[in-house]
Amino acid sequence: MTATSIENIRRHLEALIGERNPFSSPAALDSAGGYLEAQFRMLKLDVRTEPVGFEGIESNNVLGVLPGAKPLAEPFVLAAHYDTVEGSPGADDNASAVAALLETARLLGGASLAAPLVLAAFTLEEYGFIGSRDFIERAKGQGFCGMISLEMVGYSDSAPGSQSYPPYIDASRYPDRGDFVAVVGNEPSDALTQAVSEGLRQSSPALAVEQLVVPGRGDMFREVNLSDHSPFWQNGTPAVMITDTAFLRNPNYHQATDTLETLDLDLIANVALGVAGFLKHYLSAGRLK
Ligand SMILES: [Zn+2]
Repeated sequence: MTATSIENIRRHLEALIGERNPFSSPAALDSAGGYLEAQFRMLKLDVRTEPVGFEGIESNNVLGVLPGAKPLAEPFVLAAHYDTVEGSPGADDNASAVAALLETARLLGGASLAAPLVLAAFTLEEYGFIGSRDFIERAKGQGFCGMISLEMVGYSDSAPGSQSYPPYIDASRYPDRGDFVAVVGNEPSDALTQAVSEGLRQSSPALAVEQLVVPGRGDMFREVNLSDHSPFWQNGTPAVMITDTAFLRNPNYHQATDTLETLDLDLIANVALGVAGFLKHYLSAGRLK
């Protein structure tokens, strides 16, 4: 993690934070989409936007593609949603993850990956993963070699008892301080969950990483399904969520108090560093031959 990463992340957060809702603030949502498009272009990615219709309104998935040396290989998807619920400035949910996505892309600059990498800023996540469902549908049966959803990666609390858990998780096996990120997969994503967790630890030693693999496809467990990896699970793609655990830790979840001042920028920068390191290795020619 470097001072440059922190500066970049702060700049992205300042540009993005503020309600970005398709019904109550559509102009702000559009303008955030425009910001992402411009950033992807500056990073020299192949950019495209895909309009997504929902209940009479339309907003865009914004996609930036880093081509792989093997263009026919199944792409890997790294995603973060950029919409918010009504009434929240959406700093942790999910400007934090969008900032991490952009900084990951910058850190990957010039890396020669074997498989294509799609950086996806999804819209309409808050209405039931509408943007990511649309993305999968448009791909029409094309496979993906893996997927990471960055879902709230900017809030930490090192006070004892600051972390809570849903009832189906054995809390005695996990920290009671909320200063880590969780990598959450389902059984078909077991190998990817291990690989992402190890990749984060190796590339970003300051980042505390906990991992969880839920039984089966994970459909039974509400909390672990609440992001854009969920439609990929249903689609049979190995997918994980990297998260600060949302409302299990952050009291500002979906509130007007989800602001820049509450965020831990070091945590966001460490996530970007870890994800970039993981992807460089995971999508390398040597591993994918
Ligand atoms: Zn979210």
